[in-house]
Amino acid sequence: MIRQAKGKTPRRPPPKKPSNNQKDPVGVYCRVRPLGAEDEECCIEVISNTTIQLHAPDGLKANRNGEFKETQYSFKKVFGIKTTQRELFEDVAKPLAQDLIHGKNGLLFTYGVTGSGKTHTMTGSPGQGGLLPRSLDMIFNSIGPYQAKRYVFKPDDKNGMEVQNQVDALLDRQKRDSQTSVPKTPNTRRVDPEFADMISPEEACKAEGVDEDSSYSVFVSYIEIYNNYIYDLLEETPFDPIKPKPPQSKILREDQNHNMYVAGCTEVEVKSTEEAFEVFWRGQKKRRIANTQLNRESSRSHSVFIVKLAQAPLDADGDNVLQDKNQVNVSQLCLVDLAGSERTSRTRAEGNRLREAGNINQSLMTLRTCIEVLRENQMCGTNKMVPYRDSKVTHLFKNYFDGEGKVRMVVCVNPKADDYEETLLVMRFAEMTQEVEVARPVDRPICGFAAGRRQRNQAFKEELTRRLEERGGPVDGDCPTVLNQLLQAFPPLPPCEISGPNDDVTLPRLIEALEKRHKIRQMMIEEYNKTATMLKSVLQEQDGNILSKENVIQEQRGKLGEKDKMLQNQKNEIDRLEKKSKMLEYKIDILQKTTNIYEEDKRSLQNELESREQRLQREMSEKRRIEARMQGMVSDTKLKWEKECERRVNAKQLEMQNKLWVKDEKLKQLKAIVTEGKTENRQPQRPSREKDKVPPKRSASPSPAPTGPPVRPLHRRSHSAGGERWVDHKPTTNVDLDTVMQPNIPNAIKVNAPNEKALSKCDKYVLTHQEVASDGEIQTKLIKGEVFKTRGGGQSVQFTDIETLKQETPVAASRKRRSSESGPDSEPMEGNWTDVETRCSVAVEMRAGSNLGPGYQHHGYTKRRKP
Ligand code: ADP
Ligand code: MG
Repeated sequence: MIRQAKGKTPRRPPPKKPSNNQKDPVGVYCRVRPLGAEDEECCIEVISNTTIQLHAPDGLKANRNGEFKETQYSFKKVFGIKTTQRELFEDVAKPLAQDLIHGKNGLLFTYGVTGSGKTHTMTGSPGQGGLLPRSLDMIFNSIGPYQAKRYVFKPDDKNGMEVQNQVDALLDRQKRDSQTSVPKTPNTRRVDPEFADMISPEEACKAEGVDEDSSYSVFVSYIEIYNNYIYDLLEETPFDPIKPKPPQSKILREDQNHNMYVAGCTEVEVKSTEEAFEVFWRGQKKRRIANTQLNRESSRSHSVFIVKLAQAPLDADGDNVLQDKNQVNVSQLCLVDLAGSERTSRTRAEGNRLREAGNINQSLMTLRTCIEVLRENQMCGTNKMVPYRDSKVTHLFKNYFDGEGKVRMVVCVNPKADDYEETLLVMRFAEMTQEVEVARPVDRPICGFAAGRRQRNQAFKEELTRRLEERGGPVDGDCPTVLNQLLQAFPPLPPCEISGPNDDVTLPRLIEALEKRHKIRQMMIEEYNKTATMLKSVLQEQDGNILSKENVIQEQRGKLGEKDKMLQNQKNEIDRLEKKSKMLEYKIDILQKTTNIYEEDKRSLQNELESREQRLQREMSEKRRIEARMQGMVSDTKLKWEKECERRVNAKQLEMQNKLWVKDEKLKQLKAIVTEGKTENRQPQRPSREKDKVPPKRSASPSPAPTGPPVRPLHRRSHSAGGERWVDHKPTTNVDLDTVMQPNIPNAIKVNAPNEKALSKCDKYVLTHQEVASDGEIQTKLIKGEVFKTRGGGQSVQFTDIETLKQETPVAASRKRRSSESGPDSEPMEGNWTDVETRCSVAVEMRAGSNLGPGYQHHGYTKRRKP
């Protein structure tokens, strides 16, 4: 009755898919395989369980692209060389298998260079089963008892799943059984030794929280993507040994839920780990054969093993799968062993092979590009088109990134130095992939039936069997035990034997008893009905209560789930930030080092600057000192020259006065000649004594200067002192000629330069002047004059004669007088006056110029008039 009451509960429509905006980053794990040989150079070091460090191998220390010699990469988890297959499974694939059982999709792929351990990780080997056999084992361990009979679930050809009725399923099973080739019961361990003992029984594990009120079925497909073509590895093709048919490629289609699927791909329903693995191995063998036949390199193909789990709720009785296609939930787990990520083929690729390599690289390139664009879109909020369609691999898994699902990647690395550069690229791709987020799959909606149907149904069936067995046979319809018990509850009937025809007691008594019984029965029925309705209402109430409680629980569970998600998100965020901070710390460290170096540089440069500044200062002060000295010298020289100029002006003035006087004198003489008459021609032979008499005359009456400058009157020195006294002026520049041709005046005052004192004591002056004649000989000139007292109290000299003394051959001596013929009192020749004035000027100039150096001397010569 309880079951009936349940059955009447109206079925709720499946709840709408909750809109999901929670995202998880792609889980990237790193597995480092052991080195092939102990003596190989290693370029990877696991430095924590989330970080590895790459060292550039010795040959590559050139620090290309400005990268650090050591680079660190962080992942969700790093598995070192000692990691067992089981440990890896626990962390990486178990959550995906768990999700699959709870109706959520998952994608797991291995990525890395050829030989880095992708296949070892995904498939493994006997005794060391990889993620694939372990996932299968866990799935079957979990759903084993709740599997639907074969062919109850039946894939349609549009990536959907149908539920067949019991009869159709039975017919299909019979058809299958009649095909002898198919092993009937895979339970008997009749497995290929090639994949036997992949997982030891003690390692078996189970999912938690399996919905027992559902029925399950597992379907597997196995495809290979080679050169951007998809091949079905499970397709049954009639084998033709003579002309083997080349495998036909498949195409991708989109189903009504916008999920991508391989159209027409074989989906094999499997009921145990062994059967599933056997199917996988069949595909594997086919792949190997095809690769050998077509001369393909297996490392260049991607293999995709898809585990599909169909689940549908049991009906209300917990007897059969609910015949409702809408209630079927299909989840899938894709296990992908990607092609080697190296840029060029490991073996020498030529021609076709090279082209293929290019294509395979292309698909990995596309994967990289898709991840990059996705990351950019997510991080920068852009909406760039993700080029999923550029390759089959990305196109097939588009929904995992666009829609929802858990995506995990195991990055396999071989620490050998040869792989260093490729490994660097792998690491960069892996790091980037971690930054992509994928929508978290939502919880599967629950059907409207109360939970625990399977168990109750089971319990009911068991109880029924037990009771039947207790009774020891089929139930007797006439006399049910319960009825007997009920009858015993009635009052006993009176004896009903009639003693005689006149016995009118027995019958009425019996009637009365029966009526009584009838009444009791009526009452009991009423009571029973009353109780039944009451019970019914109570039960209904209880049912309602339970239902509301269940709803509350469901609600709470939802909230819990949300909280869990939040927690997980925060944890992920923390992880991410930690990784970032680690990276930044590393960078800071490097920058710190650089700063230190620069500071050191700065300090030494500053020191140098200081020392240079000091030197400069010293040099500047030195310069200033020199400058001051120079200035002193310049002003000294200027002063000296000013004085010199003044002196020379004075001399010139004096000379001019003298000239004037000479001209005056000449004029007078001329006058005298004119007035005395032409008979007297003794004038040229005028005795030298007469000459001496001229000055006193002049002194008495100073010559008028009608046009000349105002000359101060000169006073001739008196001769009271007795004989003439000479000032013998010999400039120091004169050359000692060591000849007789020089004046030797007794009692003369010899001076180098004329001075007031010497002049005041004398009345005659002679200057011995040397110059170079035109024939190169030195000629000496004696410039004579008389000393006068000026009116102002000073001394002045009036030049009167010039004698030229020169050593020369007698022939040329026609006009020049010999020194022996001349004395200080020798007469000047008439017509030599002009010569005299010129010579005087030269003499004065020469005397003045004697201190001036050759430049001035030269000037003196050029001024000389030619005789
Ligand atoms: P891939 O599929 O990446 O080309 P494989 O999985 O075929 O590389 O690995 C190459 C070889 O290295 C195999 O012989 C495999 O047994 C070995 N190998 C890989 N990873 C491991 C590991 N973690 N421990 C021990 N051996 C490994
Ligand atoms: Mg491989």
